[in-house]
Amino acid sequence: MGVLGAQERIYYSRQVTDTNIMSNNYSKHITLTSHPSGNQNPVDIEWGAKTATERGPVVATPAGSDLRNSIGSYSGSYSVYRALAIAAGKLDPLHKPDLTNTAPAIQFGPFEQWTDPAKIVSIDPWGHMVGQVFSDHIANGTDVRPTIAVTRARLSVPEMVSGINGVSLVPDGVVLMETGEVNVIKIAIEPVWYLPGIADRFGTDEHSLRRSLFEQTGGMFSELVTRPDLKVFLPPIGGITAYVFGEISAITDPARKLSCRVHDECNGSDVFGSDICTCRPYLVHGIEDAIETAQSGGAGLIVYNRKEGRALGEVTKFLVYNARKRQTGGDTAENYFERTECVAGVQDMRFQELMPDVLNWLGITRIDRFVSMSNMKYDAILEQGIEIGERIPIPEDLIPPDARVEMDAKKAAGYFTEGEVPTESDLTETHGRGLEEY
Ligand SMILES: [Zn+2]
Repeated sequence: MGVLGAQERIYYSRQVTDTNIMSNNYSKHITLTSHPSGNQNPVDIEWGAKTATERGPVVATPAGSDLRNSIGSYSGSYSVYRALAIAAGKLDPLHKPDLTNTAPAIQFGPFEQWTDPAKIVSIDPWGHMVGQVFSDHIANGTDVRPTIAVTRARLSVPEMVSGINGVSLVPDGVVLMETGEVNVIKIAIEPVWYLPGIADRFGTDEHSLRRSLFEQTGGMFSELVTRPDLKVFLPPIGGITAYVFGEISAITDPARKLSCRVHDECNGSDVFGSDICTCRPYLVHGIEDAIETAQSGGAGLIVYNRKEGRALGEVTKFLVYNARKRQTGGDTAENYFERTECVAGVQDMRFQELMPDVLNWLGITRIDRFVSMSNMKYDAILEQGIEIGERIPIPEDLIPPDARVEMDAKKAAGYFTEGEVPTESDLTETHGRGLEEY
């Protein structure tokens, strides 16, 4: 459409609005978030308040409501699909979810971390209890939606069933069934960011954070810069799934052991078994440790973060694979991080600062067995005042040959190992498969 003048912009807005009134259930006007109408009456919200009632609900109903107290929209990136459903005439834009029978399958909390504004800054700690604690707002017609859901599941992990991966667990009929299936509680969490708290975690100021978020999303969320009174942002990024093995009460009981792996998504390995990294074997080892700990009276926890390819995305990740394998001398541990930096500008964009929020939300104060070698994750958890007992590295025999490059490079860069830290010259010796060798 090119660059629009003010008159054209108004005309275009009217055209769209008129069409939508005919085909959909829209209100008459498009409210530009960059030009608030002046009728804004956001529902009160006080992050970290002592009770849910005092805190108030996160109201991120789609644009146009004067009651909104948050930037962005419910369901994060999936709001785009919701937009398609409405544009296609399949969904009423005024639809509000019927929350009957959707309450958490398991009750836990509230924990004291829920009411500490600095302990949890990227999750709504009341997000799974919206239907209960904000029922009066909902009854009054305010569109308040859960950002967390808690349910039960039974997992079938092929490595558990077949005994490959060296797994030798004994079924107990409670956590691990005779069939090899595993009983778990699973929790889906969408991000809800309290912007002043996020800025603090990253050692920046709220203004700089807001401007950066505004610009790097292509100006998608103008309220980041026009509405400093709105402190909560629902970013269009992937969320978290937490899998709990054993009794959830064991997680917060200091007398019972907790095994925990915090795993960042790697679809190629996790789901498809790609052998260039250790993600799936280490994840399965974490599940195995979680089951064993639960079977011995404790609990296990797997936190699965949707931060594909070190939060760079799969396109960048696959570009890096090609660059690694095509470089002079082939894919070596020596140049592992450098290749990522050449393409992405950084070695890693995950920044673990927000990761401990889910641990705080679950009321965790100590992890007895931390199934991760990442020093960044370890440091971030300690920084939040959560203790860590043992660190459990991936067993050597679970590392696929082509993943040696990654593993050696990470160990040399400071990842936890009980063995030798590779030297500079060791790193030049570790080679991966070339692109012609597939
Ligand atoms: Zn991976």
